[in-house]
Amino acid sequence: MPLLEVTGLKKHFGAPGSAAVKAVDDVSFSIAEGQTLGLVGESGCGKSTTGRSVLRLIEPSAGSVRFMGRELTILPAGQLRAMRRHMQMVFQDPYASLNPRMTIGEVLEEPLIVHKLHDRATRRRLVAEALDMVGLNPSYAARHPHEFSGGQRQRVGIARAIITRPKLVVADEAVSALDVSIQAQILNLLKDLQKELGLTYLFVSHDLAVIRHVSDTIGVMYLGRMVELGTREEIYANPRHPYTQALLSAIPREHPGQKRERIVLQGSIPNPAAPPAGCHFHPRCPSCMEVCKTAAPTPVKVSAGQTVACHLYR
Ligand code: SF4
Ligand code: MG
Repeated sequence: MPLLEVTGLKKHFGAPGSAAVKAVDDVSFSIAEGQTLGLVGESGCGKSTTGRSVLRLIEPSAGSVRFMGRELTILPAGQLRAMRRHMQMVFQDPYASLNPRMTIGEVLEEPLIVHKLHDRATRRRLVAEALDMVGLNPSYAARHPHEFSGGQRQRVGIARAIITRPKLVVADEAVSALDVSIQAQILNLLKDLQKELGLTYLFVSHDLAVIRHVSDTIGVMYLGRMVELGTREEIYANPRHPYTQALLSAIPREHPGQKRERIVLQGSIPNPAAPPAGCHFHPRCPSCMEVCKTAAPTPVKVSAGQTVACHLYR
């Protein structure tokens, strides 16, 4: 049984009467324990909203989220709060998510206090341990967030996420604000912690090179829909959806011998409030057919580990 199983997830925004923005439109995926699912797509595709809806930081409009054998979408507030220690989030901007007036020690101790975990001495020990695990000197507990670099602050953000020993961590653009050299360090830290603590990641990023580095399976989103979902190997060796093919053609190859023509997409992402009919991607798709303009493609299994929503694979 997967640790996390998301089925038919929808999140619609907008006032009644006006056209709703279908930020997440019937998205399904699952993640096995200890694995990483990378969710990728351009800004506004609904990947962050998916991550937040899974944790119920925002309320999904419809669908099912099963986590550790429980249905999260119908969990009463009190039980949801108790579940939160098992599912944590790492945000893009570590500075914005850290209270500048608190010491790092207080920042890290807070989740333990909120969840009424351990006595004071144990909490202090766990704070020192967490700092050590993310590669920071435990003496830094006395310092304030402004005394740290961006990379160090993200290490603090990660320490805060793991201190309750969660099962699932949702990372939303966790390295996007950092220099490329620091990005690699943080990604490697996340991988090391995954092994050490058996963590499961839902890793949200617009950057396919980052997604390639961390993911076991990859979901590609476009305007609220999952257009392709598969193992890392399948997606990179054999991308089927024209959008995935275009995204992949824009990043450096993993092996110099690999050949891949650069596919330049026409136009920009349409307004999510008024997405194109049929396949949302059709105005930009180099393979667009008549049927694509009116009928939305449903996901089709094209191999053991790969699902594609595109009329080319009917
Ligand atoms: Fe292109 Fe049609 Fe496939 Fe959409 S369904 S990606 S328009 S071929
Ligand atoms: Mg986002």
